Amino acid sequence: MERDHASSTDSAAPAAVALVSVLLPLPLVGAYDYRTAADLRLERGDFVVVPLGKREVIGVVWGEGRGDVGRAKLRDVIARLEAPPLPEVLCRFVEWVAQYTMSPAGAVLAMAMRVPAALEPPRGIAAWRRSDDTALLAGLRLTPERQRVLDVLADGPPRPTAELAREAGVGVGVVKALAAARALLQVELPPPPAFERPDPECAGPTLSAAQADAASALANKVASGGFSVTALDGVTGAGKTEVYFEAVAQALRGGRQALVLLPEIALGAQWLDRFTARFGVRPAQWHSDLTMAERRVAWRAIARGEARVVVGARSALFLPYPELGLIVVDEEHDAAYKQEDGVIYQARDMAVVRARLTDIPIVLVSATPSLETVQNVTSGRYAALHLPDRHGGAQLPLISAIDLRADKPPRQSWLSPTLRQALSETLAAGEQALLFLNRRGYAPLTLCRACGHRLQCPRCTAWLVEHRLVGRLQCHHCGFQVPFPTSCPSCKAEGMLAACGPGVERLSEEVAALLPAARTAMMTSDTITGPLAATELIRRVQDHAVDLLIGTQMIAKGHHFPMLTLVGVVDADLGLHGGDLRAAERTYQLLHQVAGRAGRADRPGRVLLQTFEPDHPVMQALVAGDRDRFLASEAADRRSAGMPPFGRLAALILAGPEAETVDGAARTLARTAPRGDGVEVLGPAPAPLAILRGRHRRRFLLKCRRDIAPQPLLRSWLGPVKLPASVRLQIDIDPYSFL
Ligand code: ADP
Ligand code: ZN
Repeated sequence: MERDHASSTDSAAPAAVALVSVLLPLPLVGAYDYRTAADLRLERGDFVVVPLGKREVIGVVWGEGRGDVGRAKLRDVIARLEAPPLPEVLCRFVEWVAQYTMSPAGAVLAMAMRVPAALEPPRGIAAWRRSDDTALLAGLRLTPERQRVLDVLADGPPRPTAELAREAGVGVGVVKALAAARALLQVELPPPPAFERPDPECAGPTLSAAQADAASALANKVASGGFSVTALDGVTGAGKTEVYFEAVAQALRGGRQALVLLPEIALGAQWLDRFTARFGVRPAQWHSDLTMAERRVAWRAIARGEARVVVGARSALFLPYPELGLIVVDEEHDAAYKQEDGVIYQARDMAVVRARLTDIPIVLVSATPSLETVQNVTSGRYAALHLPDRHGGAQLPLISAIDLRADKPPRQSWLSPTLRQALSETLAAGEQALLFLNRRGYAPLTLCRACGHRLQCPRCTAWLVEHRLVGRLQCHHCGFQVPFPTSCPSCKAEGMLAACGPGVERLSEEVAALLPAARTAMMTSDTITGPLAATELIRRVQDHAVDLLIGTQMIAKGHHFPMLTLVGVVDADLGLHGGDLRAAERTYQLLHQVAGRAGRADRPGRVLLQTFEPDHPVMQALVAGDRDRFLASEAADRRSAGMPPFGRLAALILAGPEAETVDGAARTLARTAPRGDGVEVLGPAPAPLAILRGRHRRRFLLKCRRDIAPQPLLRSWLGPVKLPASVRLQIDIDPYSFL
């Protein structure tokens, strides 16, 4: 093209053409070589437009070309974009994550380039200035209104149409008419900064002695810089957020950006309000409720260093901060940090990697730290800071277990007499209560009382869940749904379908019958679809427009409700069983967190756990408030089983439309499975979700000693194996889901 043209007049034409390797934000491709005219001067990290097939794609210059493809076949870089280049640390981070998770680097890059439109220069704002053409102005028919418009512009900067009309007190038609007469000329103003600068000196609360110690320890790490990991731990309400805000303030004082990661649903108005109270302005946000336009604005402001503090869900880890000085991972134990599709990664762990590559401190915050983090503190790899009490002397709630074997709910109901009594008392005292049941919908299973048929998803090994509010049956694994049938699909009997077990919808029916005067609200991912909707409901609870809140795990996150004094856990055993190595740990964390909703202000709270296993170590630990004993026994179990964090796991999932082909592929893989000292391969075995979306699934689990990395083993195992085209292999390093 034009550049080729220029170089062909040069006697040393071939030397003027350089090769660059360009990584495209697409899965399943590595970096490709492209030709580029020498005067284009491309550097690693530059955004470029290149041809790919018939399309033009934006990619990132990854380095010098490898030259392993004949030059004649290569195509030219079309253009370099005038955008800040991808920071070098982010390039290295993309490579690191790709290696570790065994994903294509392009798929990881795609997470860093979610909004290609952000790479275009920001659009200016159209504004009007007054014409300098005095002859033209003199010849104009000037009504008083027109005169006011010209007067406003006489001594001020150009203004956009609406603003100009408002200031002059005229309709926009007057402005437009003046523009048509060429008395006003259009100019483009630069867009205003999208985010104001947070002020580190704005107004923090007076910290308690313990809080102040922790805050200054963190601030010192931020000020001196360099990589460090600190676990910040303390009961809910201890003031961990106030403490890490001081670390954020220190990053701001040092001219650095700060990133706070939160599980998506905790990222609501309460957190934002507190940030605003401390720093005077809102931070930039990054989560799934953002519109494409908001994403574009945020991405660009982050890349240009205008957004100084970013609060976001896990994908915010891949944004192009040029001056990152601190990462905070709040609720670090939360399973939502594990991304389970596309590039499968654990954002908390990758955040530590990003901090190490950037050579900055990271803080992992939780009231119930993960066993991984606890172990890293024990072994001295991570520093630890501990806040001993709830702020302001608020009491921790009193937790007790209700033994469902003795304290039986009435037939076809789920609340025991003790819990019913406690609910009535609480509401009668003008306080609020929360019922926690980690099950969406009306009933987890529907069966036919005539023939015993159970309604199952046609595409998955899973029961269909009734959602009575919308009159449908849904599969919670693949999203399949149908209207609730009137007759049994198997024996055609009419009116014989019966709901088995409770979901939150059914629970709220029981509550309505029991406490007809109570104002109840439900909080589940069906009713609350993102941070904005959550904010709205949380405000209503805070304003005491709700007496009784019923919800799934979405309810557990750090909301602060001063009048909430009773938490009832309807089925405390729900998460305990099934083949998940973290089942006990997660149940403990979840129930502890839900319990933490009770009695956060001056009124003491109580928590009732309905369980069939009051002697289970999880229930005992919760009731005794003895986290450390629970962690110690959990650690001992894991250590003796060689399970994480004392060993390493990688899961392989084979999936395909025909069971036989998938089984054949599994047998092929099994023949060359690695073995040796400290290496063990379990499987193949049908996955618990043996069929998902019509695909048959078989699992392997590679288990290694802690000092053995699974990736090289997997590469040499899987590299030579040729799988049938219909079978897909998914690799999950450090798996959290065992379905
Ligand atoms: P955590 O993050 O540990 O759950 P928070 O930081 O959310 O605790 O604090 C709990 C509540 O106590 C919040 O409303 C917070 O504003 C308040 N709080 C904590 N520390 C102080 C303090 N030193 N002065 C005033 N209020 C505080
Ligand atoms: Zn399904």
